[in-house]
Amino acid sequence: ETARIGVTGLAVMGRNLARNLARHGHPVAVHNRTSARTRSLVDEFGHEGTFLPADTPEKFVGSLERPRRLVIMVKAGGPTDAVIDEFAPLLDPGDMIVDGGNANFADTRRRESALRERGVHFVGTGISGGEEGALHGPSIMPGGSAASYEALGPLLEDISAKVDGTPCCTHVGPDGAGHFVKMVHNGIEYADMQLIAESYDLLRHAAGLAPAEIAEVFRTWNTGRLGSYLIEITAEVLAHTDAATGRPFVDVVLDQAEQKGTGRWTVQTALDLGVPVGGIAEAVFARSVSGHAVLREASQNLPGPSRNDAFVSFGFPEAVEKALYASKIVAYAQGFHEIQAGSAEYGWNIDLGAMATIWRGGCIIRARFLDRIRAAYEADPQTPTLLTDPHFTEAVGDAQDAWREVIAIAAKLGIPVPGFSTALAYYDSLRAPRLPAALTQGQRDYFGAHTYRRVDREGTFHTLWGADRTETTP
Ligand code: NDP
Repeated sequence: ETARIGVTGLAVMGRNLARNLARHGHPVAVHNRTSARTRSLVDEFGHEGTFLPADTPEKFVGSLERPRRLVIMVKAGGPTDAVIDEFAPLLDPGDMIVDGGNANFADTRRRESALRERGVHFVGTGISGGEEGALHGPSIMPGGSAASYEALGPLLEDISAKVDGTPCCTHVGPDGAGHFVKMVHNGIEYADMQLIAESYDLLRHAAGLAPAEIAEVFRTWNTGRLGSYLIEITAEVLAHTDAATGRPFVDVVLDQAEQKGTGRWTVQTALDLGVPVGGIAEAVFARSVSGHAVLREASQNLPGPSRNDAFVSFGFPEAVEKALYASKIVAYAQGFHEIQAGSAEYGWNIDLGAMATIWRGGCIIRARFLDRIRAAYEADPQTPTLLTDPHFTEAVGDAQDAWREVIAIAAKLGIPVPGFSTALAYYDSLRAPRLPAALTQGQRDYFGAHTYRRVDREGTFHTLWGADRTETTP
């Protein structure tokens, strides 16, 4: 018997992906460096479908039908290279290696190009949805050659999440495109989580609501336009009581957020591409600030408004909902801008509306709102920003008074809202007919002769600041 596909790396993700494949009727070869994991998978879940366990790479590769489809689900970085080096010599031209780990897209580009020389398709694939998603249907973002997608697409679409019958999986684009899009997905996830955290903080410390009451507010929001997985689990977390102390769970958790790196990559890449993604950057920095225990401890007595100045105003939760929705639109607009820029830089030709479509289910940022983004790109695939889509323009326009008010209240009460603030600053920067960048250019020309352009004439100019200040054309 041969397997239609094989999975090597059977920790949480690989094991559940293999089970998902088997449950869908695809015979799956399974392999793990430490073969105990392979055995336990077959012992525990062998009844779910056809598993072909292999304890050596040779046996594993030998059990795959041709062209071979081999999925790697191991730790990203060095381990992925080690596994590729181990398996590639056993493959033939036309075979496919799918890397489902959270690889950096630059590594994926390098690996794809090296394997292409040997005729092997390397399919860098973003997979989102965590452990549960891998088992019940993740959002899948495969990159690589169009030919590899022909052979793999139907299988991947089969095991992906579905929304309204549409699979949350599509061919993203060549080489690193899939992992790039997965990276930005995670960056957007950081921004979304930060905005939700700020909303909670405001409801807690500006409106004086208790965690259980805030859970109710989030439950209500989840039935509206903010309806999403992240809002849903936020309500669950806030409603949870710590069994040991009887206190709200959120009050017994150390307030230092950790990160694995995809948010940081999103920002680093955005800096390289020259794309302003303040919402994502502030989210990464907010986690970073939270983790600086010594810095925070040393700052406890810095002057500021007292946390007891709770300001309760009628309709405050509704205002926060508007601030959250507007900020979220900005954060997503920034993330999609980054995908657009990456696509242009690397010639990927990514369909932005299709990305919104495959994020509607299975992944962490799945949300009702993504249907709106899909519609916006359907209406105008070339739009420079989602903010000018009529629906979003109207939504932000309607929210903006509340948005500004909420940020003003936060500033007065000394509650940090870096996500809300940067989103509004970005929005107002885009709207501004003139920016103080003109002054910046003047300063640059003054100290560095960096030159400037004029509003009224073509060309490049320099003012002789140290002399009689006549204008020259260098
Ligand atoms: P881990 O990232 O914890 O990786 C463990 C697996 O990697 C084990 O199978 C391990 O084998 C194998 N491995 C490590 N080093 C080597 C090596 N040098 N040679 C061969 N195998 C090696 O597993 P996860 O399941 O959490 O994640 C797998 C991938 O999926 C990662 O890239 C992760 O970033 C990504 N991912 C994870 C998500 C999640 O929610 N966890 C969500 C989306 C993507 P052994 O048993 O022998 O130690």
